[in-house]
Amino acid sequence: MSQSGEKVKFSDSAGYVGFANLPNQVHRKSVKKGFEFTLMVVGESGLGKSTLINSLFLTDLYPERYIPGAAEKIERTVQIEASTVEIEERGVKLRLTVVDTPGYGDAINSQDCFKTIIHYIDNQFERYLHDESGLNRRHIIDNRVHCCFYFISPFGHGLKPLDVEFMKALHGKVNIVPVIAKADTLTLKERERLKRRVLDEIAEHGIRIYQLPDADSDEDEEFKEQTRVLKASIPFAVIGSNQLIEVKGKKIRGRLYPWGVVEVENPEHNDFLKLRTMLVTHMQDLQEVTQDLHYENFRSERLKRTGKPVEEEVVDKDRILQQKEAEFRWETPFLSCVACRK
Ligand code: GDP
Repeated sequence: MSQSGEKVKFSDSAGYVGFANLPNQVHRKSVKKGFEFTLMVVGESGLGKSTLINSLFLTDLYPERYIPGAAEKIERTVQIEASTVEIEERGVKLRLTVVDTPGYGDAINSQDCFKTIIHYIDNQFERYLHDESGLNRRHIIDNRVHCCFYFISPFGHGLKPLDVEFMKALHGKVNIVPVIAKADTLTLKERERLKRRVLDEIAEHGIRIYQLPDADSDEDEEFKEQTRVLKASIPFAVIGSNQLIEVKGKKIRGRLYPWGVVEVENPEHNDFLKLRTMLVTHMQDLQEVTQDLHYENFRSERLKRTGKPVEEEVVDKDRILQQKEAEFRWETPFLSCVACRK
Protein backbone atom coordinates (compact mmCIF):
# COMPACT_ATOMS: atom_id res chain seq x y z
CA MET A 1 0.00 0.00 0.00
CA SER A 2 1.24 3.49 -0.64
CA GLN A 3 0.20 7.07 -0.36
CA SER A 4 -1.40 9.14 -3.09
CA GLY A 5 -1.56 6.96 -6.10
CA GLU A 6 1.38 4.57 -5.88
CA LYS A 7 0.23 0.94 -5.97
CA VAL A 8 1.61 -1.95 -3.98
CA LYS A 9 0.20 -5.46 -4.20
CA PHE A 10 -0.47 -7.58 -1.17
CA SER A 11 0.69 -11.13 -1.24
CA ASP A 12 -1.53 -13.71 0.45
CA SER A 13 0.94 -14.19 3.25
CA ALA A 14 1.15 -10.49 4.05
CA GLY A 15 -1.52 -8.64 5.99
CA TYR A 16 -4.79 -8.58 4.19
CA VAL A 17 -7.68 -6.10 4.49
CA GLY A 18 -10.22 -8.35 2.79
CA PHE A 19 -11.99 -6.30 0.14
CA ALA A 20 -11.07 -8.74 -2.65
CA ASN A 21 -14.63 -10.09 -2.50
CA LEU A 22 -16.06 -6.68 -3.39
CA PRO A 23 -16.70 -7.73 -7.02
CA ASN A 24 -19.21 -10.24 -5.70
CA GLN A 25 -21.21 -7.30 -4.49
CA VAL A 26 -21.17 -5.23 -7.64
CA HIS A 27 -21.18 -5.38 -11.38
CA ARG A 28 -18.02 -6.82 -12.94
CA LYS A 29 -17.42 -3.65 -14.92
CA SER A 30 -16.51 -1.91 -11.69
CA VAL A 31 -13.66 -4.35 -11.12
CA LYS A 32 -11.65 -2.88 -13.96
CA LYS A 33 -12.36 0.66 -12.93
CA GLY A 34 -11.76 -0.04 -9.25
CA PHE A 35 -13.72 1.10 -6.26
CA GLU A 36 -13.78 4.52 -4.72
CA PHE A 37 -14.55 4.88 -1.07
CA THR A 38 -14.28 7.76 1.35
CA LEU A 39 -14.20 7.24 5.09
CA MET A 40 -14.30 10.10 7.56
CA VAL A 41 -13.04 9.74 11.12
CA VAL A 42 -14.29 12.09 13.80
CA GLY A 43 -13.67 12.22 17.53
CA GLU A 44 -11.67 14.06 20.15
CA SER A 45 -7.96 13.99 19.65
CA GLY A 46 -6.06 11.28 21.49
CA LEU A 47 -8.85 8.67 21.16
CA GLY A 48 -6.73 6.56 18.82
CA LYS A 49 -8.24 7.47 15.43
CA SER A 50 -4.99 7.53 13.44
CA THR A 51 -3.77 4.35 15.11
CA LEU A 52 -7.01 2.54 14.26
CA ILE A 53 -6.98 3.70 10.64
CA ASN A 54 -3.39 2.56 10.24
CA SER A 55 -4.31 -0.81 11.77
CA LEU A 56 -7.42 -1.17 9.57
CA PHE A 57 -5.68 -0.53 6.29
CA LEU A 58 -2.26 -1.87 7.24
CA THR A 59 -0.61 1.37 6.35
CA ASP A 60 0.91 4.46 7.84
CA LEU A 61 -1.33 7.23 6.64
CA TYR A 62 0.06 9.82 9.02
CA PRO A 63 3.84 9.38 9.12
CA GLU A 64 4.74 12.88 10.25
CA ARG A 65 1.82 14.10 12.25
CA TYR A 66 2.36 17.13 14.45
CA ILE A 67 0.60 17.00 17.82
CA PRO A 68 -0.26 20.45 19.24
CA GLY A 69 -0.04 21.33 22.92
CA ALA A 70 -2.99 22.37 25.14
CA ALA A 71 -2.46 26.13 24.71
CA GLU A 72 -2.56 25.81 20.94
CA LYS A 73 -5.63 23.60 21.07
CA ILE A 74 -7.74 26.32 22.73
CA GLU A 75 -7.35 28.52 19.69
CA ARG A 76 -7.44 25.73 17.16
CA THR A 77 -10.27 25.23 14.73
CA VAL A 78 -10.99 21.86 13.21
CA GLN A 79 -9.08 21.04 10.06
CA ILE A 80 -9.91 18.66 7.30
CA GLU A 81 -7.14 16.37 6.10
CA ALA A 82 -7.88 14.00 3.24
CA SER A 83 -5.32 11.28 2.41
CA THR A 84 -5.79 8.95 -0.52
CA VAL A 85 -4.22 5.54 -0.89
CA GLU A 86 -4.64 2.99 -3.61
CA ILE A 87 -4.76 -0.57 -2.40
CA GLU A 88 -4.78 -3.63 -4.60
CA GLU A 89 -5.68 -7.07 -3.36
CA ARG A 90 -5.96 -10.04 -5.72
CA GLY A 91 -6.45 -7.77 -8.69
CA VAL A 92 -9.17 -5.67 -7.08
CA LYS A 93 -8.33 -2.00 -6.76
CA LEU A 94 -9.61 0.27 -4.05
CA ARG A 95 -9.05 4.01 -4.07
CA LEU A 96 -9.54 4.82 -0.44
CA THR A 97 -9.72 8.34 0.90
CA VAL A 98 -9.57 8.83 4.63
CA VAL A 99 -10.78 12.21 5.82
CA ASP A 100 -9.46 13.07 9.25
CA THR A 101 -10.68 15.99 11.33
CA PRO A 102 -7.82 16.93 13.68
CA GLY A 103 -8.77 19.58 16.20
CA TYR A 104 -12.33 18.26 16.64
CA GLY A 105 -13.53 19.10 20.16
CA ASP A 106 -10.24 20.80 21.08
CA ALA A 107 -11.45 24.38 21.00
CA ILE A 108 -13.77 25.71 23.69
CA ASN A 109 -16.45 26.57 21.15
CA SER A 110 -17.31 23.38 19.29
CA GLN A 111 -20.01 24.80 17.03
CA ASP A 112 -17.49 26.02 14.50
CA CYS A 113 -16.00 22.57 14.08
CA PHE A 114 -19.40 21.20 13.03
CA LYS A 115 -19.67 23.90 10.42
CA THR A 116 -16.29 23.01 8.93
CA ILE A 117 -17.20 19.32 8.71
CA ILE A 118 -20.70 19.99 7.30
CA HIS A 119 -19.20 22.38 4.79
CA TYR A 120 -16.72 19.70 3.66
CA ILE A 121 -19.43 17.05 3.20
CA ASP A 122 -21.72 19.49 1.35
CA ASN A 123 -18.86 20.58 -0.88
CA GLN A 124 -18.28 16.98 -2.01
CA PHE A 125 -22.01 16.63 -2.80
CA GLU A 126 -21.93 19.92 -4.67
CA ARG A 127 -18.95 18.82 -6.75
CA TYR A 128 -20.65 15.55 -7.57
CA LEU A 129 -23.86 17.34 -8.52
CA HIS A 130 -21.93 19.64 -10.78
CA ASP A 131 -19.94 16.82 -12.42
CA GLU A 132 -23.07 14.76 -12.87
CA SER A 133 -24.67 17.58 -14.83
CA GLY A 134 -21.57 18.19 -16.95
CA LEU A 135 -20.49 16.62 -20.22
CA ASN A 136 -17.93 14.24 -18.75
CA ARG A 137 -20.31 12.42 -16.45
CA ARG A 138 -18.86 8.99 -17.24
CA HIS A 139 -15.60 9.76 -15.48
CA ILE A 140 -16.75 11.38 -12.29
CA ILE A 141 -14.47 10.92 -9.31
CA ASP A 142 -16.70 10.19 -6.34
CA ASN A 143 -15.32 12.02 -3.33
CA ARG A 144 -18.55 11.98 -1.37
CA VAL A 145 -18.14 10.81 2.23
CA HIS A 146 -19.61 7.31 2.36
CA CYS A 147 -19.10 6.55 6.01
CA CYS A 148 -18.13 8.33 9.23
CA PHE A 149 -16.59 6.48 12.15
CA TYR A 150 -17.55 8.49 15.21
CA PHE A 151 -15.19 7.83 18.13
CA ILE A 152 -16.69 7.79 21.62
CA SER A 153 -14.48 8.10 24.67
CA PRO A 154 -14.27 5.00 26.88
CA PHE A 155 -13.68 7.19 29.94
CA GLY A 156 -17.11 8.80 30.24
CA HIS A 157 -20.45 7.34 31.28
CA GLY A 158 -21.98 7.44 27.84
CA LEU A 159 -22.30 10.14 25.20
CA LYS A 160 -21.09 13.66 25.85
CA PRO A 161 -23.20 16.65 24.79
CA LEU A 162 -20.71 17.21 21.95
CA ASP A 163 -21.24 13.63 20.69
CA VAL A 164 -25.03 14.07 20.70
CA GLU A 165 -24.89 17.44 18.95
CA PHE A 166 -22.47 16.23 16.30
CA MET A 167 -24.39 13.09 15.43
CA LYS A 168 -27.69 15.00 15.30
CA ALA A 169 -26.17 17.61 13.03
CA LEU A 170 -24.66 15.05 10.66
CA HIS A 171 -27.00 12.03 10.62
CA GLY A 172 -28.90 13.37 7.62
CA LYS A 173 -25.72 13.80 5.58
CA VAL A 174 -23.54 10.78 6.23
CA ASN A 175 -23.67 7.17 7.44
CA ILE A 176 -22.53 7.33 11.06
CA VAL A 177 -20.93 4.25 12.60
CA PRO A 178 -20.31 4.76 16.33
CA VAL A 179 -17.11 3.30 17.71
CA ILE A 180 -15.98 3.04 21.33
CA ALA A 181 -12.29 3.90 21.39
CA LYS A 182 -9.51 2.24 23.42
CA ALA A 183 -11.65 -0.70 24.48
CA ASP A 184 -8.66 -2.23 26.29
CA THR A 185 -9.21 0.33 29.07
CA LEU A 186 -12.58 -1.26 29.92
CA THR A 187 -13.40 -4.54 31.62
CA LEU A 188 -15.89 -6.76 29.80
CA LYS A 189 -18.65 -5.67 32.14
CA GLU A 190 -17.83 -1.98 31.74
CA ARG A 191 -17.72 -2.43 27.97
CA GLU A 192 -21.18 -3.99 27.86
CA ARG A 193 -22.60 -1.32 30.15
CA LEU A 194 -21.14 1.49 28.03
CA LYS A 195 -22.42 -0.09 24.82
CA ARG A 196 -25.94 -0.34 26.21
CA ARG A 197 -25.82 3.22 27.53
CA VAL A 198 -24.62 4.60 24.20
CA LEU A 199 -27.38 2.76 22.31
CA ASP A 200 -30.04 3.99 24.76
CA GLU A 201 -28.84 7.57 24.41
CA ILE A 202 -28.75 7.30 20.62
CA ALA A 203 -32.41 6.18 20.68
CA GLU A 204 -33.38 8.79 23.28
CA HIS A 205 -32.01 11.63 21.19
CA GLY A 206 -33.47 10.35 17.93
CA ILE A 207 -30.03 9.93 16.36
CA ARG A 208 -30.08 7.90 13.15
CA ILE A 209 -26.93 5.83 12.86
CA TYR A 210 -26.12 3.57 9.88
CA GLN A 211 -28.34 0.50 9.90
CA LEU A 212 -26.76 -2.65 8.56
CA PRO A 213 -29.10 -4.19 5.99
CA ASP A 214 -30.75 -7.49 6.93
CA ALA A 215 -29.33 -10.52 5.15
CA ASP A 216 -31.60 -11.70 2.31
CA SER A 217 -33.49 -14.91 3.01
CA ASP A 218 -31.57 -16.71 0.22
CA GLU A 219 -28.14 -15.84 1.70
CA ASP A 220 -26.19 -18.70 3.25
CA GLU A 221 -26.46 -19.33 6.97
CA GLU A 222 -22.89 -18.18 7.65
CA PHE A 223 -23.58 -14.74 6.16
CA LYS A 224 -26.85 -14.45 8.08
CA GLU A 225 -25.02 -15.29 11.31
CA GLN A 226 -22.27 -12.79 10.48
CA THR A 227 -24.87 -10.06 9.94
CA ARG A 228 -26.57 -10.91 13.22
CA VAL A 229 -23.28 -10.78 15.15
CA LEU A 230 -22.26 -7.50 13.50
CA LYS A 231 -25.61 -5.88 14.32
CA ALA A 232 -25.36 -7.03 17.94
CA SER A 233 -21.83 -5.57 18.28
CA ILE A 234 -22.75 -1.95 17.54
CA PRO A 235 -21.23 0.32 18.83
CA PHE A 236 -18.00 -1.49 17.98
CA ALA A 237 -15.53 -1.38 20.89
CA VAL A 238 -12.11 -1.35 19.27
CA ILE A 239 -8.41 -1.12 19.93
CA GLY A 240 -5.64 -0.10 17.59
CA SER A 241 -1.88 -0.49 17.56
CA ASN A 242 1.00 0.34 15.26
CA GLN A 243 3.21 -2.19 16.98
CA LEU A 244 3.99 -5.76 15.95
CA ILE A 245 4.59 -8.05 18.92
CA GLU A 246 5.77 -11.65 18.85
CA VAL A 247 3.28 -13.99 20.54
CA LYS A 248 3.93 -17.76 20.46
CA GLY A 249 6.33 -17.33 17.55
CA LYS A 250 3.83 -15.28 15.50
CA LYS A 251 4.06 -11.56 14.83
CA ILE A 252 0.77 -9.87 15.69
CA ARG A 253 -0.52 -6.34 16.02
CA GLY A 254 -1.06 -5.68 19.69
CA ARG A 255 -0.50 -3.61 22.78
CA LEU A 256 1.96 -4.88 25.34
CA TYR A 257 1.07 -4.37 29.00
CA PRO A 258 2.88 -5.56 32.15
CA TRP A 259 0.14 -8.20 32.52
CA GLY A 260 0.00 -9.38 28.94
CA VAL A 261 -0.74 -8.57 25.31
CA VAL A 262 -4.01 -7.22 23.91
CA GLU A 263 -4.34 -8.45 20.34
CA VAL A 264 -5.95 -6.13 17.80
CA GLU A 265 -7.14 -8.93 15.49
CA ASN A 266 -8.41 -11.20 18.23
CA PRO A 267 -12.25 -11.15 18.31
CA GLU A 268 -12.18 -12.21 21.94
CA HIS A 269 -10.22 -9.11 22.87
CA ASN A 270 -12.19 -6.46 20.95
CA ASP A 271 -14.45 -5.70 17.94
CA PHE A 272 -11.70 -4.58 15.52
CA LEU A 273 -12.25 -7.49 13.10
CA LYS A 274 -16.01 -7.01 13.23
CA LEU A 275 -15.62 -3.34 12.37
CA ARG A 276 -13.37 -4.21 9.44
CA THR A 277 -15.72 -6.96 8.25
CA MET A 278 -18.65 -4.56 8.49
CA LEU A 279 -16.79 -2.01 6.39
CA VAL A 280 -15.62 -4.34 3.64
CA THR A 281 -18.76 -6.44 3.33
CA HIS A 282 -21.10 -3.46 3.39
CA MET A 283 -19.02 -1.01 1.38
CA GLN A 284 -21.45 -1.15 -1.50
CA ASP A 285 -24.46 -0.64 0.76
CA LEU A 286 -22.74 2.34 2.41
CA GLN A 287 -22.25 3.79 -1.08
CA GLU A 288 -25.85 3.11 -2.06
CA VAL A 289 -27.27 4.72 1.09
CA THR A 290 -25.01 7.72 0.44
CA GLN A 291 -26.35 7.97 -3.11
CA ASP A 292 -30.02 7.19 -2.51
CA LEU A 293 -30.56 8.89 0.81
CA HIS A 294 -27.95 11.48 1.75
CA TYR A 295 -27.08 12.72 -1.72
CA GLU A 296 -30.74 12.76 -2.81
CA ASN A 297 -31.60 14.78 0.33
CA PHE A 298 -28.85 17.22 -0.52
CA ARG A 299 -29.97 17.43 -4.14
CA SER A 300 -33.60 18.12 -3.39
CA GLU A 301 -32.72 20.67 -0.68
CA ARG A 302 -30.32 22.35 -3.03
CA LEU A 303 -32.92 22.57 -5.80
CA LYS A 304 -35.51 23.95 -3.39
CA ARG A 305 -33.02 26.62 -2.31
CA THR A 306 -31.85 27.77 -5.70
CA GLY A 307 -35.09 27.03 -7.53
CA LYS A 308 -33.40 25.63 -10.62
CA PRO A 309 -31.63 22.42 -11.52
CA VAL A 310 -27.86 22.51 -11.71
CA GLU A 311 -28.04 21.74 -15.47
CA GLU A 312 -29.60 25.16 -15.98
CA GLU A 313 -26.86 26.76 -13.92
CA VAL A 314 -24.23 25.17 -16.15
CA VAL A 315 -26.09 26.49 -19.21
CA ASP A 316 -26.27 29.89 -17.51
CA LYS A 317 -22.53 29.79 -16.87
CA ASP A 318 -21.92 28.91 -20.53
CA ARG A 319 -24.13 31.79 -21.60
CA ILE A 320 -22.21 34.23 -19.39
CA LEU A 321 -18.92 32.91 -20.80
CA GLN A 322 -20.17 33.40 -24.38
CA GLN A 323 -21.28 36.94 -23.54
CA LYS A 324 -17.89 37.71 -22.02
CA GLU A 325 -16.16 36.34 -25.10
CA ALA A 326 -18.35 38.46 -27.36
CA GLU A 327 -17.62 41.54 -25.26
CA PHE A 328 -13.93 40.75 -25.43
CA ARG A 329 -14.06 40.42 -29.23
CA TRP A 330 -15.92 43.68 -29.41
CA GLU A 331 -13.40 45.46 -27.21
CA THR A 332 -10.20 44.07 -28.76
CA PRO A 333 -10.29 45.97 -32.12
CA PHE A 334 -10.86 49.14 -30.20
CA LEU A 335 -7.90 48.40 -27.97
CA SER A 336 -5.68 47.65 -30.96
CA CYS A 337 -6.82 50.91 -32.54
CA VAL A 338 -5.79 52.74 -29.42
CA ALA A 339 -2.46 50.95 -29.67
CA CYS A 340 -2.11 52.02 -33.38
CA ARG A 341 -2.74 55.62 -32.53
CA LYS A 342 0.10 55.56 -30.01
P1 GDP B 1 -5.87 10.49 17.52
O1 GDP B 1 -5.46 11.85 18.01
O2 GDP B 1 -7.31 10.22 17.81
O3 GDP B 1 -5.54 10.22 16.08
O4 GDP B 1 -5.08 9.43 18.44
P2 GDP B 1 -3.73 8.61 18.15
O5 GDP B 1 -3.99 7.50 17.19
O6 GDP B 1 -2.66 9.57 17.80
O7 GDP B 1 -3.46 7.95 19.57
C1 GDP B 1 -3.27 8.72 20.75
C2 GDP B 1 -2.59 7.85 21.83
O8 GDP B 1 -3.43 6.77 22.20
C3 GDP B 1 -1.28 7.20 21.37
O9 GDP B 1 -0.38 7.22 22.46
C4 GDP B 1 -1.67 5.77 21.02
O10 GDP B 1 -0.60 4.86 21.19
C5 GDP B 1 -2.77 5.51 22.03
N1 GDP B 1 -3.73 4.55 21.54
C6 GDP B 1 -4.18 4.39 20.26
N2 GDP B 1 -5.06 3.39 20.18
C7 GDP B 1 -5.20 2.90 21.44
C8 GDP B 1 -5.98 1.83 22.00
O11 GDP B 1 -6.74 1.15 21.33
N3 GDP B 1 -5.85 1.62 23.36
C9 GDP B 1 -5.03 2.39 24.14
N4 GDP B 1 -4.97 2.10 25.42
N5 GDP B 1 -4.29 3.37 23.65
C10 GDP B 1 -4.37 3.63 22.31
